[in-house]
Amino acid sequence: MPGTYFKKGSHNAICDVCGHKFKFTELTKRWDGLVVCKDDFENDHPQKYIRVRESGLAVPEIRNRPADIFVNACTAWGASSYADLAEADCARADVTTIDYATLVALKAASVVPDGPFN
Ligand SMILES: [Zn+2]
Repeated sequence: MPGTYFKKGSHNAICDVCGHKFKFTELTKRWDGLVVCKDDFENDHPQKYIRVRESGLAVPEIRNRPADIFVNACTAWGASSYADLAEADCARADVTTIDYATLVALKAASVVPDGPFN
């Protein structure tokens, strides 16, 4: 109840949430340490204090993930000597055992992804 009046044994205090003036005996300390009026009082969430029993299913040894290893695989067209089909670290000079048109068709029909492999 806002307002100034005398109440024996109490003093004026401000609610930490709404900022209204109350007698200190009308305020309550909340779970988060704030001193609040009855309209702003709320209980702590009950599930905050639930304790879980250990199930024994934890991983016995925890290790860091190892660094990725990149594998370079050469394709038939990547290992050829044709400038627009050859790939870095795969191309070999004077390898023209398969004709250009066949390699282009083979590359177009391939499901081998371009770029580095993981
Ligand atoms: Zn309040």
